[in-house]
Amino acid sequence: MAKQKPRISFEYFPPKTAEGKSKLLEETTPALQALNPEFFSVTYGAGGTTRDSTRGVVSSIRAAGIDVAPHLSFGGDDENAVGELLDTYVERGINRLVALRGDMPSGMGASTQLVYANELVEFVRKRTGDHFQIEVAAYPEIHPESESYDSDIHFLKQKLDAGANSAITQYFYNVESYFYFLDQCAAAGIDKPIYAGIMPITNFANLARFSRNCGAEIPRWICQRVEGYGKDTDSVRKFGIEVVTQLCQTLLESGAPGIHFYTMNQVEPTRTIHANLGL
Ligand code: FAD
Repeated sequence: MAKQKPRISFEYFPPKTAEGKSKLLEETTPALQALNPEFFSVTYGAGGTTRDSTRGVVSSIRAAGIDVAPHLSFGGDDENAVGELLDTYVERGINRLVALRGDMPSGMGASTQLVYANELVEFVRKRTGDHFQIEVAAYPEIHPESESYDSDIHFLKQKLDAGANSAITQYFYNVESYFYFLDQCAAAGIDKPIYAGIMPITNFANLARFSRNCGAEIPRWICQRVEGYGKDTDSVRKFGIEVVTQLCQTLLESGAPGIHFYTMNQVEPTRTIHANLGL
């Protein structure tokens, strides 16, 4: 049987400035759209802090005739506010979502109870039926707040059973963690696709800082190599492209259903990695 074409998608965050938004819509999106992704997605700031800008960016992308998935969480909002946002997305012809519990921005954490992703999926299904193709988050190296490896898989299954269609993983550089995770999910009865989230290496210092908090590990050999390059950013860039290309090649050759690139709103190095894969 012919191998199915892998699903490719690209993630953005909503830019903070009008110039950033214009660049994203007028330069970055046409360049990445030329790679024929299945959809773009746009993150939702912790606690709902980017409600308007996420809605603005997804609406513009959709108005250009491109498939797009806003990320969504309850944040500090009630059912009315989230319901109104969903209604707007339906009106604007958006039919994909990435449903999350999300996190609270630092300093805002104590007073608001976060709503788990499975409850958001239930809410979306109740309100809008089958309108949305819903993705949820998965963690091959396990969510940092999880009680155990098995409990995180249990809760992933719960949100898929609540009506999500598929999952996208947190980024990882240990390919074994992903395939072991897929095996464990299958053993737990999960039969929906789990797409690999991939973070191209751009700003290594930021990546290392972020990884400490989000439950993704950068292997020691990668850190050592980058450290050795010091201020030679060109070598870091080339090494990053090589490592991430190899990771994606292994994933696709070994049966990953597709790749979701965390683009950081940049065409490169995602475009080069995509070209290396010969997709
Ligand atoms: P959940 O699935 O609700 O899980 C959170 C934790 O609680 C886990 O430890 C889980 O094991 C546990 N748990 C789950 N359900 C239950 C339950 N019913 N009872 C008890 N425990 C439970 N963050 C943003 O702020 N904005 C974004 O746009 C964004 N996009 C993301 C996209 C992807 C593909 C990924 C992988 C992550 C994204 N994140 C985003 C980060 C995410 O919001 C955080 O990792 C957050 O801490 C968890 O969200 P979740 O939806 O995975 O939570």
